Amino acid sequence: MPEIPNSFAYHDAANLQTLAEQVESAYSSFNDGSVVPAWSFTETKRTIADIDFKKPVALDAALSEAANLMENGDLRSASARCFGYFNPTAAWPAVVGDVLASVRNPQICVTSHAAASVTMERRIADMVCAKLSMPDGTAHFTSGGSEANETAMLAALCRASSEYIEHGVRAFEKAPSIYVSADSHLAWIKIAKATGLGAKAVRLVPTSGDGRMDVAALGDIITKDKKNGFQPIMIAATCGTTGAGMIDPLVACYKIAAREDIHFHVDAAWAGALIFDKNRLGLLAGIEQADSVTIDAHKWLSVPMGAGIIALRDPSYAANVFSVKTSYMPEGDGQDFYITTNQWSRRFLGLRLWMMLRVVGEAGYRQMFDQHFALADYVCQQLPKHGWQIRNTSTLPVIVFDDAQYGLDSQAVADEIEKRGKVWLGRVTFEGRSVLRICTTSFLSTEDDVDLLVSELDVARHILKA
Ligand SMILES: *Cc1c(COP(=O)(O)O)cnc(C)c1O
Repeated sequence: MPEIPNSFAYHDAANLQTLAEQVESAYSSFNDGSVVPAWSFTETKRTIADIDFKKPVALDAALSEAANLMENGDLRSASARCFGYFNPTAAWPAVVGDVLASVRNPQICVTSHAAASVTMERRIADMVCAKLSMPDGTAHFTSGGSEANETAMLAALCRASSEYIEHGVRAFEKAPSIYVSADSHLAWIKIAKATGLGAKAVRLVPTSGDGRMDVAALGDIITKDKKNGFQPIMIAATCGTTGAGMIDPLVACYKIAAREDIHFHVDAAWAGALIFDKNRLGLLAGIEQADSVTIDAHKWLSVPMGAGIIALRDPSYAANVFSVKTSYMPEGDGQDFYITTNQWSRRFLGLRLWMMLRVVGEAGYRQMFDQHFALADYVCQQLPKHGWQIRNTSTLPVIVFDDAQYGLDSQAVADEIEKRGKVWLGRVTFEGRSVLRICTTSFLSTEDDVDLLVSELDVARHILKA
């Protein structure tokens, strides 16, 4: 028998020591130091191109090498001082769970092959459904919010035509159309293209000057579309826009969907985390009316990417759209993930959230949310004192703002701050205005980090107006 190198197998506890050191070094770097990469993209590409795969190295060396590349070449989005977008620091219990999932590597697409892992995953999914008032619903993990939203779209298509499963979009006499706000996450465009509807099926309903869907406009557009030969199939309201954390009028959107008898989806990719905060459920009011809901565990629930969740009130649509029979799959329980979800081979993603709920629990998440809301309040106090004008009215910890004193270009401010590298914040367009964006969604961030951010904003202004 030819031999396999023994480095395939776990055999050396010293490697675990190196791994522990790398973990320690990564986590400790999240509290201070530069947020932006030390190397330029050119330098990073050159360094990576120079690595010689014909010369294998010991695992310790390869691990240190990979960690070093990431340390110097990536934006440190897990840092306490990174206030951009929703890639918060990954919480340790979730990371540990994910390592365990890698090592045991259960194939959870077939129930009979991973009865424990599948049942654990379903238990978490059932908790999510219960929180969303979907007692007979079903939920499953996805690669992220985009896959979750795509599953919602497929459910809407199946509901709109029983022929969709066999004939695809040709089943529709009139072109199907979907309704999202102009400030929604534009994964909808990709999804419309991928599902065969085409990008033109997506109606970007105007917002009311505050980043929230204009419901009167929504009603008008639907009426006009029906006259012009379209078939509305779904309203997808956003609960927590990516840019400015605004929540569409969920109840009003639901009422229109109910009147039209079409699918009502709520994209709560990041704000949906608040289903685990019993004191803040009011912020999500209306979500309990949804036919389907998207929540990304990898955003505000602080588990590693990519772990999204789709919850469906009526399990039958998705089950129909994904169902398939093969001879090479083992006998399952009829609810196997490979026939009820978009993925086939399937990672045990639910273990990340399972570990969080076992270790920090809902109470721990509530404390984290308390901290994030308090930090956002602190940001809202500090910015106006320093001459920055807040432009959104989000009830969530996202603040968009610009310079009120000198009318400085927001992109130039963001670029200056990035060049200095101590903190990082976003730049988005909100209601036609270029604004800076801060979200306080890392469990590591403190008032000191916000103070540093505000002082960096002052420095950037000072440099730009000179
Ligand atoms: C992030 C986000 C998405 C996309 O989710 P991914 O996990 O990046 O695929 C969709 N909708 C909203 C509101 C988001 O914030």
